[in-house]
Amino acid sequence: PESFDTDIPAIDFSIPHMLQQTASGYPEHPCISFYQKRMTYRELQDAVTMFSSSLQHIGTKKGDRVAIMLPNCPQYVISYYGILTTGGIVTQVNPMSVERELIHLLKDSGVETIIVLDRFYPMIQSIQKETKVKTIIVVSFLGEDHETDYTFDEFLKLGDGGVTSIKIEPEDVAVLQYTGGTTGVSKGVMLTHSNILSNVMQSQRFFKESIQTGEERSLSVIPFFHVFGMNSCMNLSIYTANEMILLPRFELSEVLSTIKREKPTLFPGVPTMYVAITNHPSAEEYGIHSIKLCNSGSAPMPVELLNQFEKKTGAKILEGYGLSEASPTTHCNPAFAERKPGTVGIGLPSTDYKVVDIATGMKEVPPGDIGELIIKGPQVMKGYWNLPEETANALRDGWLYTGDIARMDDEGYVSIVDRKKDMIIASGYNVYPREVEEVIYEHPSVQEAVVIGVPDSYRGETVKAVIVLKAGEKVSEQELMGFCQENMSSFKVPRIIEFRDELPKTSVGKILRRALRENVI
Ligand code: ATP
Repeated sequence: PESFDTDIPAIDFSIPHMLQQTASGYPEHPCISFYQKRMTYRELQDAVTMFSSSLQHIGTKKGDRVAIMLPNCPQYVISYYGILTTGGIVTQVNPMSVERELIHLLKDSGVETIIVLDRFYPMIQSIQKETKVKTIIVVSFLGEDHETDYTFDEFLKLGDGGVTSIKIEPEDVAVLQYTGGTTGVSKGVMLTHSNILSNVMQSQRFFKESIQTGEERSLSVIPFFHVFGMNSCMNLSIYTANEMILLPRFELSEVLSTIKREKPTLFPGVPTMYVAITNHPSAEEYGIHSIKLCNSGSAPMPVELLNQFEKKTGAKILEGYGLSEASPTTHCNPAFAERKPGTVGIGLPSTDYKVVDIATGMKEVPPGDIGELIIKGPQVMKGYWNLPEETANALRDGWLYTGDIARMDDEGYVSIVDRKKDMIIASGYNVYPREVEEVIYEHPSVQEAVVIGVPDSYRGETVKAVIVLKAGEKVSEQELMGFCQENMSSFKVPRIIEFRDELPKTSVGKILRRALRENVI
C-alpha cells in the first residue's frame, strides 16, 4: 500500500539538539507529568543543562559510558539527555537485573558513573569492587536522606551550570542497549544518534494521522530502559513536543485510574498490558476509548486477545514489530491503510525488508513462504559493543539478520512466525510455538499460554504447553488436548500440558521461554 509520501532525510543533528529545538519552540508546554507534578520543556532543558554541567565537573568526557538504572521518572529523562549532552553514551540497565547480570553489563561496558534508584544502591555498592564504577548518583522518590555518594538533587548542583560544548556527530554512539537475554547472553547494541533519530522520524511520519505535534499526551508506562519505551515513547514524545504521563511500573488499578484522570491520547504498550486491561472486570468504565493509538510491540499480540481488548475498551491496537538492533521499530500496521490483525504490518519509511531462505540467508522466498526476516534502514545499529564476530553475523552487506522467522504476503505485510531459536523440531517436523499458542488462546477458559519444546528421547523434542487459566475456570489436560486436536495437525498438538498460576516474564512483560524450557523457574 501507499504508506508515506517521502523517505526520511539523512540525520544531521544529535539527540540533545532535538530536545533544544523542542524546548525553544515550546518552552512552557508540559513535557512530563509524574504523580500529578508537571514539568515544562523549559524546566526539563534547564535540569538537563545542570546535570551535564555536573557530569563534566566530575570529568565525564565524550564517549564515556554512563549507566541509568531507573524506572520511568523525571530523573531518568534528565539523566538521559544530560549524559548525551556531554557526548557520553547512555548505558541502559534494567532495574530488575540480578547481581550476575549487573556485573556482566557494568564490566562489559566499562561504566564509571551510574544513576540508580535507592532500592538498588546497596547492590551496586556490594559489586562496585568488581567493576570500574566510581560515582553513584542515587534517586529517591520518597525524598529520604540516604548516606549515599550523591543524591540526585545534590548532584544536579555540583556543577556551575556551564557546559563546555561538545561536537556530536550523528554517527557517534548514543546508547548501549543490552538485549534482554530471553535467548542467551546479553549483548550491548550500539545505537547512534542517527539510528535513534531516524527511527523517531520514521515513526512520526508513519503515525502522522494519530500524532499531532504539541497536542498529544502519552501514557508512558513501558519502561524507558527498554528500547521500545526509550524511543517509541520518550524520544518520540519529545520530538513531537508532546507530554509524557510517567508511571514507574505497570500496576493495573493505577494505570486505569491514571487513564481516567489524565485522559492520554497515546498508549504504547506490550501485549501483556493490554491482556491485563481486557481481563479487568470493568475496564470499559475508564474511558480507554479516548486513546487514539495503542501501539503494541515487543511480543506477539494474539488475534483473539486483540479482538477482546478492542471490543471491551473501544480503543484500537496497531501491532508493530522491532528489535533492539533496529532502534527498535521496523514494521507496523498502518492507520492510513488496511490493518491486518495477526501481522506486524508493513515497513516504516526508508525501511527495506526481505524474507530469505533460512539455511543460506541468501535467496528471497516467494510471498507466503517462510524464511528469515532481514532488514536494511537508517535505524539499524552500528554493531554489538566489543563483539566483532557477532556483529559480522548479524549485519551482512548492510542487512540486519533478525533471527525471526516470518512470511510476507503479496502486499508486503509481514507475519512473525517465530524466533529461529524457539522453533521446535518434533519427530522431524517444524512446529512454530506461536501457531499452537494462537489456537490455545481461542479456548474460552485460557488466560495465557506458552508453548515450548522439551527434550524427548523418541521424538527429539516434544511440544509442551504451559497454561494459566482465567480466574475461576477449570479445564482438564485431556479437554485442552482434544481442543488442540480438532484445530491443528497432530504433530503440533502439545503432548504435555502444565497449569500454572502465572508465567515467568521479563520486566517488559515478555514470557521467559528459555527459563521454562530449561526448567529453571
Ligand atoms: P534477546 O534478543 O536477548 O532475546 P529481547 O527479547 O529483549 O532479548 P528485543 O530486542 O527487546 O530483545 O526483542 C526483539 C524481539 O522481540 C524480536 O526479534 C522478535 O522476536 C520479538 N518481537 C518484537 N515484536 C514482535 C511482534 N509484534 N510479534 C512477535 N515477535 C515480536
